[in-house]
Amino acid sequence: SIPLSFFGGIGGASKNGILVKGGNFLEALNGVDTVVFDKTGTLTKGIFSVTSITALQGHSEAEVLRLAALAEMHSNHPIALSIKRAYTEPLEAMVSEYEELAGYGVKATIEGKTVLAGNDKLLKEQGIVHETLDTPDTVVHIVIDGVHAGYLTIADEPKEDSKQAILALKALGIKDIVMLTGDNKAAADKVAKELGIAHVEAELLPHQKVEKLEELMVRKNGKGKTVFVGDGINDAPVLARSDIGIAMGGVGSDAAIEAADIVIMTDEISKVATALKIAHKTHAIVW
Ligand code: ADP
Ligand code: MG
Repeated sequence: SIPLSFFGGIGGASKNGILVKGGNFLEALNGVDTVVFDKTGTLTKGIFSVTSITALQGHSEAEVLRLAALAEMHSNHPIALSIKRAYTEPLEAMVSEYEELAGYGVKATIEGKTVLAGNDKLLKEQGIVHETLDTPDTVVHIVIDGVHAGYLTIADEPKEDSKQAILALKALGIKDIVMLTGDNKAAADKVAKELGIAHVEAELLPHQKVEKLEELMVRKNGKGKTVFVGDGINDAPVLARSDIGIAMGGVGSDAAIEAADIVIMTDEISKVATALKIAHKTHAIVW
């Protein structure tokens, strides 16, 4: 049987906007010594703005932005939303085929042209040689019928409470705080430095996030539990693999909320520390 105080703990959590899917997760939170965060939409707002548009090889900036917005038409990724916000004309065109390439970008057929929008990895995968741009912003390349037609740079910023949230976890004695991201290294390092996170792994595909998490877990040899905190887009596998998966419920995807053990109903990242505190308190009452 489940001790009554577990319900107290879950009730206390729910009053704080933290949905805990079972008392065992609250108990497991007590043994946590590693907290692993996704970057985009979790530590950062996930609200990007387009900071520059560059056209290459005879294409125009207007064309690059228009085709980028059309290619992203069906995507809900924070990057896609920012590009659609930057394109103020109506999105009128035939997008006949569309595919989301998780960890790379998107691919669409627009007015008979094959358009790709995505990162350096996508270009490499397409065999397109280019110099890596020296910018801390996130870069979205546009490829039209196999030709590198240009790129957009977009920037995001940390959530108001991210820095405080990291400090609170350190104060609670969390030994290892890690950021895993699919974004480029320069963008990842900039955010990590601002927030005081020393351990960063960037340019990861969704399955590589799972592998990194497993490495962290194996290293500890069963001592100390590992939490993964994500906003969900592309993060369901790593949420499921962690000892305790925590999803941001505010903007998070349904798949992530389903895969998570704990859901933070607001987007406040500081609630991760709140959940740990409630778990500690509940533990003290039971034992
Ligand atoms: P994060 O790990 O930072 O949350 P994701 O795993 O969701 O990021 O995405 C990793 C990378 O894949 C992004 O930084 C971006 O370069 C690329 N990407 C993903 N989705 C899109 C998209 N819809 N349009 C363009 N690029 C995308
Ligand atoms: Mg994310």
